[in-house]
Amino acid sequence: MSEIISVPTASTPTVPACTRPDVDPELFFSDSKADIAFAKAICRRCPLQMACLQGAIARGEHYGVFGGRLFTPNGKFARSARARKQVAA
Ligand code: SF4
Repeated sequence: MSEIISVPTASTPTVPACTRPDVDPELFFSDSKADIAFAKAICRRCPLQMACLQGAIARGEHYGVFGGRLFTPNGKFARSARARKQVAA
């Protein structure tokens, strides 16, 4: 069985996934673990994920989901080893 795979190209739209009309932006700033998990899942499919994460780090975001990571009031977020490598690249 063949599968159609979408490969980003220079003409691929780079619209943030969180701005789609079917996505509730409140998910990204919710206190609900389920909402946060859903927001992170949306980020994982966003073409701007890495740029978004890097921007959030640079701005010192302290609340909400950005780039697939939850930022907390203490200005830190849980970084996996994989995430550290991605941000450093
Ligand atoms: S990675 Fe950033 S721009 Fe993309 S859906 Fe998540 S919060 Fe929105």
